[in-house]
Amino acid sequence: MTRTIDTEVLVIGSGAGGAVTAARLAEAGRSVLVVEEGPWFDPDAHEPSSLEEFTARWRHQGACAALGSPGIAFAEGRCVGGSTEINMGLYHRLPAHFAAEWRRKYGIADFDDATLDRYATDIEKTVTVSFLPGEAPASSAVLEHGADALGWKSTEFARVFAYDDKGHGTKQSMSRTMIPKAVAAGAIIQPDCTVLKLNRSGRRVTGATARLGYADGSSELVTLRADQVFVCGGAIQTPTLLQRSGFRHNIGPGLKFHPTVKVAARFSHPYDHDEVPVHRVTEFDPFLTIGGSASRRGHVALAVADAAPSDLDRVLEEWQNVVVYYAAIRSSGSGRVRALPGLRAPLVTYGLTDSDLSRLARGLVHLGEVLLAAGAVELFPSIAGGPIVRSREDLGQWWTALTRSRSNLMTVHLTSTVRMGDASDLTGTDSYGRVWDTDNLRVNDASLLPDAPGVNPQAAVMMIAARNADAFLST
Ligand SMILES: Cc1cc2nc3c(=O)[nH]c(=O)nc-3n(C[C@H](O)[C@H](O)[C@H](O)COP(=O)(O)OP(=O)(O)OC[C@H]3O[C@@H](n4cnc5c(N)ncnc54)[C@H](O)[C@@H]3O)c2cc1C
Repeated sequence: MTRTIDTEVLVIGSGAGGAVTAARLAEAGRSVLVVEEGPWFDPDAHEPSSLEEFTARWRHQGACAALGSPGIAFAEGRCVGGSTEINMGLYHRLPAHFAAEWRRKYGIADFDDATLDRYATDIEKTVTVSFLPGEAPASSAVLEHGADALGWKSTEFARVFAYDDKGHGTKQSMSRTMIPKAVAAGAIIQPDCTVLKLNRSGRRVTGATARLGYADGSSELVTLRADQVFVCGGAIQTPTLLQRSGFRHNIGPGLKFHPTVKVAARFSHPYDHDEVPVHRVTEFDPFLTIGGSASRRGHVALAVADAAPSDLDRVLEEWQNVVVYYAAIRSSGSGRVRALPGLRAPLVTYGLTDSDLSRLARGLVHLGEVLLAAGAVELFPSIAGGPIVRSREDLGQWWTALTRSRSNLMTVHLTSTVRMGDASDLTGTDSYGRVWDTDNLRVNDASLLPDAPGVNPQAAVMMIAARNADAFLST
């Protein structure tokens, strides 16, 4: 006999979607249990993007990939707070023209600008959206200087950061914001608890079967019994759990990435490496964005090793002179998540189109132009075997070198594997996240975005989660 735990509302996953859902429902007086597969750490426990953080809070220690031609590496958080604990905290509201397009195509009710603005404003009060209080670090200003020299538009992005009097910033992840709000309102957060399957009876979900882990390495199977269930495991794990539990209508196809290429840029003097650049080149928005990446020694080594393994020792001798930048596209391709019998991890595939590949090549060349204009002396692209570029005339080689077999792509933006909206032929849930043909099962995370948002997705995920939680409360 497994132990049974009863709750009114079960929230599965504690990331951007789950934490907002839990805070909203607990504050409205509902009895909420949040179960999270990953551990619960103090948000300051690990240096960002360090080996320790990869091991403790990233799913599969950061090594996940979608199969395809080419394969695309992706990342997800796995801890209380989800991916918000490991992300860069860059914040951008969902562009209004995408919201309008989605409203029309997917038949999403209550998705007008006024409603979305109201929810975004409300969320922003809790997560503290702000700009840098002082001058941008040099690694960030590179993008502004390069863009200015070329006559291109660039801007500083806001982040979910709170600053003290001395200008020291702290990222306002879910474990610092929505999770404490939920707990203060009575929600229970259970880390180290993996939901294996949802239990159903006709149109109703009665709860879930989960494995609860303990510090000594032991674990037990538990039955979680709930009146209402919200699945908030993120765009890969949510469709996996739903499929494994027998829900299949539009669950898993439509996966959207922002495929990304990178360039390690060597300058003639050292740069800062503690902060991720906050500037973006916005000249080619919304289909192509240029920005800066985490650039610790390991990131630099990985980026250079791609293009020029034989130059690695030389470049690493002065790795502080190197910063990693990226170009990300809005993709016309899409992917799929499939739960496989007997396996814990799903099969993830992504079909990059020819136009995606040529947009990525264009992004790489524009990124090279900006970096050279800002004073970079040597550029290492994420193309196996290079070519290394030292002047603007050399950049044309990247157009032909970025092929399906040589490109090395990654992404941290994963969406759209369930999709919401009343157009049930296209979506997995109604306009508020209720899974079709169920009475009490809802999705409330990045899976619901009908398409890639073209900007960092956390803002859209939180805003939609708050809206859907309120819609649930009003029924
Ligand atoms: C490295 C990185 C950098 C990023 N940078 C930015 C950025 O700067 N700005 C931005 O806007 N976005 C950024 N993102 C994306 C953003 O963090 C995500 O879009 C957002 O967090 C998605 O929210 P979510 O609730 O769908 O999933 P998540 O936040 O990923 O949370 C899902 C949670 O559910 C848990 N879970 C999954 N399955 C189960 C299960 N079966 N049982 C129990 N628990 C389960 C997971 O362990 C995880 O903790 C970044 C993402 C990454 C990975």
